[in-house]
Amino acid sequence: MTANPADLRHLVLHFTKGSAWSNGSVPIYTKGEGCYLWDDEGRRYLDGLAGLFVVQIGHGRRDIADAMGAQASMLAYTPSWSAAHPTTIEAAKLIAGLAPGDLDSVFFVSSGSEAVESAIKFAREYHTSQGNPGRTRVISRINAYHGTTMGALSATGLEAIRAPFKPLLPGFSKVPNTLGYTNGVACAQLVEEEILRQGPEHVGLVIAEPVQNGGGAICPPDGYWLELRRICDKYDVLLLADEVINSFGRLGTWFGADYVGVVPDMISFAKGATSGYSPVGGLLIRGPLVEGLMGSEEGTFTHGATWGGHPVSMAAAIANITAMRDEKVIENCAANEKYFRQRLDDLTDAHDVLMEVRGAGYFYALTLGRSRVDCRELTNAQTKEMIGTVLPQLISDAGLLIRADDRGGPKLMLSPPLIATEAELDELVESVSVVLDGMAERLVV
Ligand code: PLP
Repeated sequence: MTANPADLRHLVLHFTKGSAWSNGSVPIYTKGEGCYLWDDEGRRYLDGLAGLFVVQIGHGRRDIADAMGAQASMLAYTPSWSAAHPTTIEAAKLIAGLAPGDLDSVFFVSSGSEAVESAIKFAREYHTSQGNPGRTRVISRINAYHGTTMGALSATGLEAIRAPFKPLLPGFSKVPNTLGYTNGVACAQLVEEEILRQGPEHVGLVIAEPVQNGGGAICPPDGYWLELRRICDKYDVLLLADEVINSFGRLGTWFGADYVGVVPDMISFAKGATSGYSPVGGLLIRGPLVEGLMGSEEGTFTHGATWGGHPVSMAAAIANITAMRDEKVIENCAANEKYFRQRLDDLTDAHDVLMEVRGAGYFYALTLGRSRVDCRELTNAQTKEMIGTVLPQLISDAGLLIRADDRGGPKLMLSPPLIATEAELDELVESVSVVLDGMAERLVV
């Protein structure tokens, strides 16, 4: 299951250690069907991460491939620059129809980072168009991941991936996320304090994920998002829900905004929109804001990309979203949520290295430590060893694809395809149990 290092030499991998790259110890997956993947030696893996929080509808869907093929044969490409394509228009209408409130306009790009970048730029140009060019500052939260382009990275709150690229853009500040807070209103007021510290006339945008991935599936306490909405309204600051992971069913609702019951000004999305059959990112924007910019003297959103609204990707999005709707894929996730959660909570009782289970829908973090009962964390050296080598090996040996992550504390991230049945969830939980046993064994040696 490892790559030929000589072949890998030509491919620069993303966020991958140089040692794994040079010795070829990265998995090579070649086939997928439903919740399973196969590697180049024919070994089967349960995809407990949906690729990378992406493959909502499962692998190997012929109908989505056919829709893309039909579009490519008819017309593979026209741009979204001063032109449009019927499939792109249809995709925007479909997504806008599912989005909450008056989030009825979509700006398409090709990734989550570009979606966040687009939100940062839209906020700036919108405020300028309304006579407020000074509203350039952006507030986001610690340990949040918002992407890798320089704007999105400046909003990102994970120090380890920011550090190599400093100095980042000016005007980006961070507030605590909701981890450890039980009073949602008080926690949201930390954002208000930051707006006042920066000066409301300078602040243009607040970015938060409904359930934050960085730091581990952090669910907000009651009242947090309502208070965020109130604060942003009070100071005329735009509110972006970064839903690159949360949207398209991951939390058991179409959008994370539905999960928290608040209509933000913008939603950034990507991953689940096509279930990974083709790259799509996008920014949902409230109609009045788009009209405000387009109808102003500015008259344009001065931003775009060659691949934005690519017809073949749009065909994938339409086929994926309509199939998810017609086959009640999100309903499956919502119906099994309680069962999945219970099975994960049972794991806590059985494993002392499992500190806490957090999350919603089909999106969970299992935080890891030395001993829950004795309240002992892993040392830095143990975390490095567990996350860097021990857990990846145990996960692979268990025939699993899940993520061992140390950003914001050591944890396992689980995010299976939304089609996963009780039987597949059982298999996932039982395999994770084997991994946790293996971890505990390694810690005592
Ligand atoms: N925003 C969030 C919340 C994400 O989780 C991610 C990626 O995981 C991104 C933005 C960046 O998306 P991409 O990797 O498609 O650029």
